[in-house]
Amino acid sequence: MTKLLKELESARIEVLFSGSEKAIRSTDASEPPKILSMILFSDVPALIAKPKTHEEVKICIQTCRNLGAPLVIRGSASSAFGAVLPPDGGLVVDVGDVSGIISIDTQSLQVVVRGGTRWADLALDL
Ligand SMILES: Cc1cc2nc3c(=O)[nH]c(=O)nc-3n(C[C@H](O)[C@H](O)[C@H](O)COP(=O)(O)OP(=O)(O)OC[C@H]3O[C@@H](n4cnc5c(N)ncnc54)[C@H](O)[C@@H]3O)c2cc1C
Repeated sequence: MTKLLKELESARIEVLFSGSEKAIRSTDASEPPKILSMILFSDVPALIAKPKTHEEVKICIQTCRNLGAPLVIRGSASSAFGAVLPPDGGLVVDVGDVSGIISIDTQSLQVVVRGGTRWADLALDL
């Protein structure tokens, strides 16, 4: 993980590793019984990356691929089935800061947004 941290920092990507930041990103929106949550939510990420651009997301993924480090992409963690839980000792790529609407096509009713865009922001523009 030291190598991963060095690579991300050298790419000037914000990296978080405090206990509270890790704890926040060790759960999703599930509310299972306590005994189950002890099993489901026991893994803790080693690091959290907070990319600000699409390019930085690419660097996070490429760096993990090069180092063989596990990662998970995290939006708002409003899913409730464990898909966003961190791999133990791996990297959480929190895309919350990579937001914004790229295009709205009123003819085809298609929108293109960045990975961290929230429904509330989109709803305001529609
Ligand atoms: C109470 C409740 C009600 C819900 N109601 C509805 C509903 O009415 N309709 C509905 O459709 N859904 C509903 N959902 C599901 C929820 O809205 C979806 O799971 C939502 O799309 C998750 O978005 P998120 O950004 O929070 O992603 P997360 O929960 O953070 O991640 C979900 C998955 O997507 C991956 N992921 C996240 N962001 C990216 C990205 N930018 N690029 C690639 N992969 C990514 C994660 O790795 C994970 O596997 C509900 C959930 C809850 C808890």
